[in-house]
Amino acid sequence: MTTVAATCNVASSDDSPASAASATLPAAAPGFRLAPASIGRPGRVQVAYLPCPTWCVLDHLADRQPAVEDVTHRGGVDHVQVPTMGDDLYSAFELYCQLYADPVSDDSRMRVAAVSVTDGSNDAYLTPDMADETADELIAFAMRMKGAARIARAAIEAAA
Ligand SMILES: [Zn+2]
Repeated sequence: MTTVAATCNVASSDDSPASAASATLPAAAPGFRLAPASIGRPGRVQVAYLPCPTWCVLDHLADRQPAVEDVTHRGGVDHVQVPTMGDDLYSAFELYCQLYADPVSDDSRMRVAAVSVTDGSNDAYLTPDMADETADELIAFAMRMKGAARIARAAIEAAA
């Protein structure tokens, strides 16, 4: 098994990322770029160049991790909110979705790319097939919700 640690280059934190990259970095695999990452404890931080999926939006330089194995990758966040009457500033429910990868996960399905869904307290990690199936169920749910809206609208108009 190839680990992230075995495929990264570590540069002194005194070097600028650009000069270190041009001098020592191998080519990244298709779908990846070599991204500079801050690795280590405060006072002992080094810059490591790690394979980072092209969909990852994290700034691994700013998001210091204690070890290379702690670096995960995340895509941009999408979300849906469910409002409620009487409080325009309150969202009763929220769901967030983004791509996720943990290159050293014990679960091989998490190492390259998974879809993460969370409500802020419970996290779900989905394979692409699971994400497709869940999305189809959410689409069907949304269509039933639109059906409920039609019935409510007709009832309100009938009562007016
Ligand atoms: Zn990344």
